[in-house]
Amino acid sequence: MINVTKSYLPDLDEYTNYLKGIWERVHLTNDGPLLRELEMQMKEFLGVKHLKFCTNGTIVLQMALKALDITKEVITTPFSYVATTNALLWEGCTPIFADIRPDDYNIDPDKIEPLITENTQAILATHVYGNACQIEQIQAIAEKYKLKVIYDAAHTFGATYNNRSILSYGDLSTCSFHATKVFHTVEGGCIVTDDDALAEKLHFYRSFGHRNDDYFSIGINAKNSEFHAAMGLCVLPKVPALIAARKQVFGYYNDRLDFSKITRPSLTPGVDYNYAYYPIVFDSEETLLRVVDSLKAQNITPRRYFYPSLNTLPFAIASGNGKEQSCPISEDVALRVLCLPLYPDLTEAQVDQICGIVNEAIAVVSENV
Ligand SMILES: *Cc1c(COP(=O)(O)O)cnc(C)c1O
Repeated sequence: MINVTKSYLPDLDEYTNYLKGIWERVHLTNDGPLLRELEMQMKEFLGVKHLKFCTNGTIVLQMALKALDITKEVITTPFSYVATTNALLWEGCTPIFADIRPDDYNIDPDKIEPLITENTQAILATHVYGNACQIEQIQAIAEKYKLKVIYDAAHTFGATYNNRSILSYGDLSTCSFHATKVFHTVEGGCIVTDDDALAEKLHFYRSFGHRNDDYFSIGINAKNSEFHAAMGLCVLPKVPALIAARKQVFGYYNDRLDFSKITRPSLTPGVDYNYAYYPIVFDSEETLLRVVDSLKAQNITPRRYFYPSLNTLPFAIASGNGKEQSCPISEDVALRVLCLPLYPDLTEAQVDQICGIVNEAIAVVSENV
């Protein structure tokens, strides 16, 4: 069986070594020494000023909105994982969907400005598949209209834009360390900022808003444990090698797929990529479904990612004025895009098998037309 992702597991002895320390200290969670060590190492790895390690990549989005006092309209992308929209809705904000760019599927800055109203407070954009948004253009719009910028950078660990971690851009930037991501801590996530005051706020938000008997603000429980931090400490040093291995698998696909019938998103100039996903886009949803069936028949599970376009979700529509916001490009791409299996130890022979099935399924469809 080949799944779309496969989690990297470190050497078990290395992990149990960390467990021995936890057993000795009997400090299981609450700002423990392994968590502090991991935060320090991640800050150094990413070259960012403040980073809070939290329980997942969704709660950090909610904390970002809360920390910036965002409660009204937020211009966001319809092409992301559902967590991006869910975080807005959960915090009582109104998502206003700006359509995506046809070449890289990131939010289109030219579609943002016409959607700004007196109720707009922020832009929440996703760096899709780990590729950077139009960061300067988004920043310029934010400055012109005094909006906050939050990036869902869940896919970007290890990727840089103009030689800086993609996580270093925006007022706040969030990442996910879920087991399926390029770098993982089983479950986990982080929030990154340059702003000292925001970092302090987020520190208290993470643990109920208080330190000992001093109560500072509202808070939530977003603390992560020593067990998750230990996994992070095992996986982090391997990230460059994991990305290099992904890059090699990427090359196997590039060499074998029949690109006369498939398109791929472009990469933003200035990005050093982390090879997080291998999305391909077919000519129609019908072709996609045909390919999915052929792969599943051979026990290969790709993923429709992202699907559906988030502006079409009934609960997103209900949150506005009950009228669906039109995002034709996102709706179209979401129907036709498929992520193929990609993980460090996927072999050349396995990629060969996958590409054979994909190329054959596409050819059959074309003949039937
Ligand atoms: C994975 C992911 C999330 C959610 O992260 P969790 O850690 O699973 O909560 C949010 N946004 C995007 C774009 C993601 O890919």
